[in-house]
Amino acid sequence: MRTEQIDALVIGGGAAGMSAAATISAADFSTALVEREDELGGVLLQCIHNGFGLHEFKEELTGPEYAERWVRKIEQSEVKTFCGTTVMEMNLLEDGRKECFGYSPQHGVIKFVTRTVVLTMGCRERNRGNVMIPGTRPAGVYTAGLAQRLVNMNGYIPGKEVVIVGSGDIGLIMARRMQWVGSKVHAVVEIQPYPSGLTRNISQCLNDFKIPLYLSHVVSKIYGKERVEAVDITPLKNGVPDHEQTFQIKCDTLLLSVGLIPENELSKQVGIELNPLTNGPTVDSMLMTSIEGVFSAGNVLHVHDLVDFVSAEARLAGENVIDYLKGVKPDRELPIKPGANIRYINPTRINPDVNSEIYMRPLVVSNNARLKIMVNGEVVKQQKKPHVQPSEMIKLKISPKFFKDVELTPDSRVEVTLQDEP
Ligand SMILES: Cc1cc2nc3c(=O)[nH]c(=O)nc-3n(C[C@H](O)[C@H](O)[C@H](O)COP(=O)(O)OP(=O)(O)OC[C@H]3O[C@@H](n4cnc5c(N)ncnc54)[C@H](O)[C@@H]3O)c2cc1C
Repeated sequence: MRTEQIDALVIGGGAAGMSAAATISAADFSTALVEREDELGGVLLQCIHNGFGLHEFKEELTGPEYAERWVRKIEQSEVKTFCGTTVMEMNLLEDGRKECFGYSPQHGVIKFVTRTVVLTMGCRERNRGNVMIPGTRPAGVYTAGLAQRLVNMNGYIPGKEVVIVGSGDIGLIMARRMQWVGSKVHAVVEIQPYPSGLTRNISQCLNDFKIPLYLSHVVSKIYGKERVEAVDITPLKNGVPDHEQTFQIKCDTLLLSVGLIPENELSKQVGIELNPLTNGPTVDSMLMTSIEGVFSAGNVLHVHDLVDFVSAEARLAGENVIDYLKGVKPDRELPIKPGANIRYINPTRINPDVNSEIYMRPLVVSNNARLKIMVNGEVVKQQKKPHVQPSEMIKLKISPKFFKDVELTPDSRVEVTLQDEP
């Protein structure tokens, strides 16, 4: 069996993995990047629309173009890349190192013995089983991401008459894509009273194509024996289906865009603590998981809307790996918790002595909100937020200045709240 002795193993070669690996390797630490598909890039490769890279490259790129920029960085670096290789097992060695096994048709079994690991395995789509739509089980029900892959990478059009469940970004992008390939998209059906995707995607993918968006509606039944023939759509009244108002749309295809689940089977196998609010690992101010020396970034940590934030977060994880390998650790950390109207905050601990960035998702839609950062119940910083909605992640810079006027004790807590301004 081939064995690789390295300083850092990065598992998953999407945007997050490439950014973390390039960063660690640039500091002259031996780094391996393992990707189960035959090429690097992850989900970017099937996203042939534009809208990527505005923060990272100050240019609007397509997904494959964005991936290509990072692939070139990896090729120019000392990173050892193993594509077509899946990491299926991680063991903790007594000396603190980790032993991971990668399986590949090309290399056979590879044993990686490494001082650190960065988990960047991305996420997968929720499917019909997760949302339990009643009815028959005909062909023609796809997740939106699978349909995207079929159209954009395999040249196969999954259907002609389409209904989309869920207004997340993948569903919106696919609504436009299906229209472009000549299919008819009859409706996008969203259970929430607000869209789940970015505002720009509602405008560019639905409004521009006059595709109806049914908010506070559900697909309540699927019809068809061999193939989908129609779906029932039911409005919600006070959150409960109002069956008297149910109407039917004839279609041959149902695309599901009903959320993403961070891909943490490997994390669970090795006993990493997961955050029930994100389904990703719980991480400290260094983006280190509950297992010392194992870090996490990108969609496997929490689902991101923008790839630029994925690259930035993974770069930070890479910088933290470098610190860890050099024995540098924060002197102190404070827990940071979501308060009113915030669903989650990542990471769950911050270092008050350095600049840091935190990511959070609001629970509410507001056109005039105020974000408050509190330490020990005292407001240390506030910011106006002209528009917030659950589908748009909030990124916040935390500075040591926020803590200069408060006495920090080992019991100190940071809390972030979001309030609607009258
Ligand atoms: C349809 C869609 C549209 C989007 N549109 C935009 C947009 O317009 N603008 C924008 O900025 N962002 C957009 N995004 C978001 C952005 O593209 C993603 O958040 C980002 O690319 C995720 O990167 P990642 O590295 O975390 O995950 P992925 O890209 O999913 O990479 C994870 C990789 O890990 C590999 N892997 C998993 N498990 C293993 C294992 N055990 N061993 C080896 N390899 C493994 C997978 O094969 C995969 O390649 C979009 C995303 C989607 C899905």
